[in-house]
Amino acid sequence: MKDNTLCRLYIGGKWREAAEKPTVSVFNPSRGEDIARVPMCGAREVGEAVAAATAAFPAWRDTPPSERAQVYYRLKLLLEEAFDDLSLGISIEHGKTLSESRGDLRRGIEVVEFACGIPSLLMGESLENIARGIDCHTDRHPLGVVAGICPFNFPALVPMWMWPIAIACGNTFVLKPSEKVPLTMQRIAVLLEKAGLPAGVMNIVHGGRECVEAILSHPDVAAISFVGSTPVAREIYRVGTANGKRVQSAGGAKNFVILMPDADVGRTVGALKDSAFGCAGERCMAASAVVAVGEASERVLPALVECVNAMKVGPTDQAGTQPDMGPLISSEHRDRVAGLIDAGERGGARILADGRNVRVGAAPNGYYLGPTLVDRLDYGNPLVDTEVFGPVLSVLRAKTLGEAIALANRQPFGNGACIFTGSGKAAREFRRQVGAGMVGINVGVPAPLAYFPFAGWNDSFFGDLHMQGKEGVAFYTKCKTTTTRWFGLGEGEIWAK
Ligand code: NAD
Repeated sequence: MKDNTLCRLYIGGKWREAAEKPTVSVFNPSRGEDIARVPMCGAREVGEAVAAATAAFPAWRDTPPSERAQVYYRLKLLLEEAFDDLSLGISIEHGKTLSESRGDLRRGIEVVEFACGIPSLLMGESLENIARGIDCHTDRHPLGVVAGICPFNFPALVPMWMWPIAIACGNTFVLKPSEKVPLTMQRIAVLLEKAGLPAGVMNIVHGGRECVEAILSHPDVAAISFVGSTPVAREIYRVGTANGKRVQSAGGAKNFVILMPDADVGRTVGALKDSAFGCAGERCMAASAVVAVGEASERVLPALVECVNAMKVGPTDQAGTQPDMGPLISSEHRDRVAGLIDAGERGGARILADGRNVRVGAAPNGYYLGPTLVDRLDYGNPLVDTEVFGPVLSVLRAKTLGEAIALANRQPFGNGACIFTGSGKAAREFRRQVGAGMVGINVGVPAPLAYFPFAGWNDSFFGDLHMQGKEGVAFYTKCKTTTTRWFGLGEGEIWAK
């Protein structure tokens, strides 16, 4: 699937190149080879995409929700037919293993399935006779043109938190995928077209900061969904809302896991490995720090070290035998994470499993870093203070559950938090006290499925209504409440003339 061409823009139902724009390379991180180029668009291309979406809006808004859903029934079949090719494409442009790519796409398809229920999801409330002869009902209306701006780490799922629900609600969409992984959404847009989505309802522009700034300042963009790092998420929320837009903006994460002494060792080790090192740790729900309470460390750490040292790292860009973990997204990011491990070690951390020296003979130019387990950490060490976003799990110690929860709540994020325990009492206390939007009890990656809201608290989310589920429907619609009275009714006469 080598695709060494210029990524195209999809505007008003037409695919076209932005040949005159500067480009950046899209890499296959398994090999360190460039596989495509992506144009860095600006205000002109964003303006054209918004104009196409604006023109398509009235007819799409007036298309009955049940007809809009028919497009998604056809899309779902097309996505299933293309499932293997799309999944391999995700592994090639992102580097996650094929089974992780399949999960990325499967979770995205589930949002399409959820959005097939849009006729029921859009139903309002009504109450007859709120006063004599007067009825009241609500209905939900689309906002207009809405935009989605995406990070690199889930090339299918994160964009699919956004456009399936937005479009099903009757909005038209402008999508800016991550410039690091622009290919997957291009392929899915081709399927949307085949499924019968009218021209202009979905539009794709490519680029980075300049492109995002053009979206933020465009007067005809009614709402923005953003997912990415916290500094950018905060700024998108600030500027977007100042410009009068509705904004939901998801930021970074530092997910803590509390390990109680009564945790089931075998299952906890498996869950921790998957959570911390799945997708090479480039997951906003990845376990980043473990707080071992009491003798939990002695019970769990030896088995965890053994499990981590047995993991195989390698290229993920071919179907067939796959490693346990693929590369990181770029050489810069790999070097940044390795630098954080160096700094953590200088700060007194004890390295129990060291991924810095991993060598992958089959793909020497890939961006590899092995799974790394670091013990005896505390705040003040960069591995604890920073979002690492790589295959590094840090271990802290606490004497009591209360101390462990206090450690988990000291960091500024609040995306996910988990506890492993056999005690309902400890789990309940943790669930109530921990400052995170998504909580796992004996679950390492508590990422909610399509019909539940997805988002964190604190510096992990800026806005009010979360992604996907009914909150997604509320975000992409505005409510109208109608109060009705027909003169003569309730006054004894049904048909006067
Ligand atoms: P990023 O913030 O670098 O980029 C995200 C998007 O913003 C990209 O489309 C990029 O082009 C654009 N962008 C980058 N810098 C910008 C700037 N200065 N001004 C305007 N736009 C800019 O994030 P990333 O490296 O692609 O993704 C990783 C981050 O995303 C991590 O912090 C991770 O935790 C976070 N993330 C969060 C969630 C969540 O649900 N909270 C989910 C996935 C990823």
